[in-house]
Amino acid sequence: MDRQQEYVLRAIEERDIRFIRLWFTDVLGVLKSVAIAPAEIEAAFAEGIGFDGSSIEGLTRVYEADMLAKPDPATFQLLPWRGDEHGVARMFCDILTPDGEPARSDPRNVLKRTLERAKDAGFTCYTHPEIEFYLFEQRQSPEDPLVPIDTAGYFDHVARGTAHDFRRDTITLLESMGISVEYSHHEAGPGQNEIDLRYADALSTADNIMTFRTVVKEVALQQGIMATFMPKPLITSPGSGMHTHFSLFEGDANAFYDPAGQYQLSSTGRSFIAGLLHHAAEIAAVTNQYVNSYKRLWGGGEAPSYVCWGHNNRSALVRVPMHKPDKGPSTRAEYRALDSAANPYLAFAVLISAGLKGIEEGYELPDGAEDNVWALSDVERKAMGIKPLPGSLEQALEVMESSELVAETLGEDVFEFFVRNKHQEWTDYRAQVTPYELRSLLPGV
Ligand code: GLN
Ligand code: MG
Ligand code: MG
Ligand code: MG
Repeated sequence: MDRQQEYVLRAIEERDIRFIRLWFTDVLGVLKSVAIAPAEIEAAFAEGIGFDGSSIEGLTRVYEADMLAKPDPATFQLLPWRGDEHGVARMFCDILTPDGEPARSDPRNVLKRTLERAKDAGFTCYTHPEIEFYLFEQRQSPEDPLVPIDTAGYFDHVARGTAHDFRRDTITLLESMGISVEYSHHEAGPGQNEIDLRYADALSTADNIMTFRTVVKEVALQQGIMATFMPKPLITSPGSGMHTHFSLFEGDANAFYDPAGQYQLSSTGRSFIAGLLHHAAEIAAVTNQYVNSYKRLWGGGEAPSYVCWGHNNRSALVRVPMHKPDKGPSTRAEYRALDSAANPYLAFAVLISAGLKGIEEGYELPDGAEDNVWALSDVERKAMGIKPLPGSLEQALEVMESSELVAETLGEDVFEFFVRNKHQEWTDYRAQVTPYELRSLLPGV
């Protein structure tokens, strides 16, 4: 047993922990959990705990259904909302095949493989997500209208408001689990909030996002309200994005930083951004995985609709934020299409992969767009070489299906499952008759 594993065993003993939850994520980004007793933990570290992988979305084909969950001791944390007595802790797991090989269909493994590729090129990847979500009153039935918990807007201070307590409770729990929060504020929509996690390496960030979603749902339950990461719950209010800032480091040096470059962006940074832009359409089905995601991208509210980049340009898909020289070289690229309902492991994997491809191939970065690209006409955008993002899940799937980059990054199993699952979602959606159609066609037609 290694030192980290010994530390976990000691912590379990000293803190009177009775249950250890083993966490992992299915292909669609849903958290899975199995609780084991402390007596099982040594076996879990040694071989992993067996489970039926065929019951988990996208994990196995039925004929190789037995899988193993092997906890990563570095992710050991107490679940603070469960109280101190008879405590409950969790660890994220790597999924192994019955022969003990890392399962290629495990989303955490997909991201790890991509980060290995970055490491081979000499890079560590850091990420900083800004996570938006809505808070609604609890509903009795799915037919009930959505009622936001307040009517506040961007950066509003709501005196003794529910949202205030909500953010405070959430952040307290996150901090006690070792997840640092950088900013939090009310967002533009009624009941909409944003919490920004401090930057960390990409794998830790993806784990942190999964924990974050769980904590937010937990606090909502405690306060008798409903929290949702759905990309676009309200027609006339902004959707919930998960803008994520990316940077690559070579040792201690930010590889995106060049004091002489435009916006202090190095040629590595420029090529990474060029990669994001070049592959934006083919990775969209992963960064924006639901039918509903495209209602956000095409519904205004500061969500990007066109493939371009800019400096402090909020209509751009990639933004290079203002650089604060007193804070050291913090040059980074903010990808703004990603939404809060994506599987963070898979989304980070395709985004980093696109950026790395840009570096490997030395893609040229086109000129930045300093105009508000939403205000331009189609002709103007065309003249500037600015293409739209996919307009629907169906369009996104069409481009993804012929993408070598996505197939290689996700691996055959995840790729095939994902495409099949998302085609089904589109087919189901296409057959719907919506309230919009009834309202606009009846009684006239
Ligand atoms: N909610 C917007 C989006 O969907 C972002 C708003 C903002 O943070 N400026 O991307
Ligand atoms: Mg923000
Ligand atoms: Mg925001
Ligand atoms: Mg932002």
